[in-house]
This record gives sequence, C-alpha cells and structure tokens, in this order.
Amino acid sequence: MIAEIMLAAIVLAMPVPDQSQSAGTYRITYYCQACNTPAGSTATSTGRWQPGYSVATPDFEPGTILEIGGREYRVDDTGCQSGTVDILRETAPDGSCICDQGEVTYQNVYVKGEL
Ligand SMILES: [Zn+2]
Repeated sequence: MIAEIMLAAIVLAMPVPDQSQSAGTYRITYYCQACNTPAGSTATSTGRWQPGYSVATPDFEPGTILEIGGREYRVDDTGCQSGTVDILRETAPDGSCICDQGEVTYQNVYVKGEL
C-alpha cells in the first residue's frame, strides 16, 4: 500500500510532456533572397516569405510549425534535399547575401503542429 502511494506520488510529480514531438536530427542550413534560386527571387512553393521564420524542407507538410534550437519556424517552401531544413534569413541592408554557405549544423527538430 505504501509502495502504491509512493508510486502514485512519483507519477504525479513527473513533468507534463511537451506537446511537440521530436522528428529527429536534421541538417540545418540557411538561405536568403540573394542566394535563393533564382537569385533575388522571393518565390516559395506556398507564397509565404518571412525571413527568420520561414524554412524550406521537403520532409514536412507546408504550414508545419517546427521548433529548432528553441525557436519556432514554419515550413513555407520545399526547395532543398530531404534531411535538410533550410532556414530563411534576411539579406544585408544592401541586399547582398550574408548567409555563411558553409554554416551547417545538425540539430534536433521538433514538430509543434500544423496551421
Ligand atoms: Zn544568402
């Protein structure tokens, strides 16, 4: 009986699981208007273009909300290879690219939901 009460107390003390689900580790890269294909284009497969929030990946449905490194993003484009999440960045004030094309990290991606 005491053991059952202690077990119940332990279960109640466990943290409520987060609603987001881990989708595993993805290759994280960056792009911007200047280095988009074609260069200068703000075209995306969904028409949504929001630097700092939009990402491109073929692995999630458009509109899916992802959490990467504690920040929230939305899948607005598909133009990169599977296993990659390409994060849209602002260009420099003069419109030039300041993406470090060599900047590649591998991070856990969490799915927070869909629009
Ligand atoms: Zn760029």
